[in-house]
Amino acid sequence: MTSKKDMDRVCGMWIETSEAKFISYYNGQTYYFCASECKDKFDQNPAFYMKGFEGRNP
Ligand SMILES: [Zn+2]
Repeated sequence: MTSKKDMDRVCGMWIETSEAKFISYYNGQTYYFCASECKDKFDQNPAFYMKGFEGRNP
């Protein structure tokens, strides 16, 4: 089984992409969120959240 995880850029939680319910698209990339609140925050200011997580990939 392969599972792919991506980070919720707003709260830092790891999201299983296949189970993600809150998804946003920005700059040709797909982003996953744990809750609508996180998605809303990202949608309002995506550049802010992109900046904070640069270079933080495992
Ligand atoms: Zn979140």
